[in-house]
Amino acid sequence: MYRYKSQHFFLQFVILRSLKFFILTILFFLHSAPSHRGEIVRSRYVAFTFDDLPATQGYAPYVIQNITEKLTRHHVPAIGFVNESKLYTDGLLDKTKVAWLEQWLNSNLDLGNHSYSHIGIDDVSLEDYKADVLKGEKISKQLLKERGKTLTYYRHTQLRTGPTPESKKDLQKFLRENGYKVAPVTLDNNDYIFANLYEKAKGNKDTVMMNYVGVEYLKYMELIVKHFEQVSIDFLGYEVKQTLLLHANALNADYLEGLIQLFQKRDYAFISLDDALKDPAYQLEDAPSKKGLSWLHRWMLAKNLEMRPEPLEPERINQLIKEYR
Ligand SMILES: [Zn+2]
Repeated sequence: MYRYKSQHFFLQFVILRSLKFFILTILFFLHSAPSHRGEIVRSRYVAFTFDDLPATQGYAPYVIQNITEKLTRHHVPAIGFVNESKLYTDGLLDKTKVAWLEQWLNSNLDLGNHSYSHIGIDDVSLEDYKADVLKGEKISKQLLKERGKTLTYYRHTQLRTGPTPESKKDLQKFLRENGYKVAPVTLDNNDYIFANLYEKAKGNKDTVMMNYVGVEYLKYMELIVKHFEQVSIDFLGYEVKQTLLLHANALNADYLEGLIQLFQKRDYAFISLDDALKDPAYQLEDAPSKKGLSWLHRWMLAKNLEMRPEPLEPERINQLIKEYR
């Protein structure tokens, strides 16, 4: 009798456990079910943008070719902002370098203007700055035209839109008249700080240091993404379709897959800059800024709201930048 009773309870226990598992499974599938026709509803979007094409510093063929190849392999749309001065070798247009951009376009990636010589808006007259913008469009414009596309976007060097409100307005008018839309950035970050150290380590074939910088970089970038997600929710009430600034450097070439995974884990869909800018937030007024700030912060400053301090790179990285040879 005792034996029978214990078996009975055991059976009851098994049935209840199975039932619980069954209900939880159903709930899970209901929650993650595709909305219609297999399309999963997402609320997070990001557009990848790369500055200083073909490459900020060294390893140019390696950098541009790896970035092109990895974006293509993972179906991530992107736009690259070119400094056409980097397409010349000894004063002559270098066909090999132009071919990198052709490969980029043939991989269905877009190009924009980032001035000819990466001129600083605070370092020259506005007229010289404008001349450098126009000088920087010749080859990209032609390459896009050959593919039935138009050069649409301008990305300010150092994200500086003008030293004074008047010059910013003047430049905006100039850009509009020359057929440009400004390419804003919401996910602003200091990738270049990590990249400088990484390039030195790469030059030394110091794989331990390269790995250290790479891992720290990905951790830092995750903090940046989380930070601006929250800033966006607190300011706009929702997460803006984010625009990510990256530089064309060896660090991003080597860690692009890690970055893509970071966004995948946070359930982002990858979209083009065109699609990101359909978010109505990009119609907001952006405050003039002498610093390279996120547009989220510029929109807040335009409404007299205070900026939220951004996550910083680890102190150890800054220390290594001073010490590492
Ligand atoms: Zn740049």
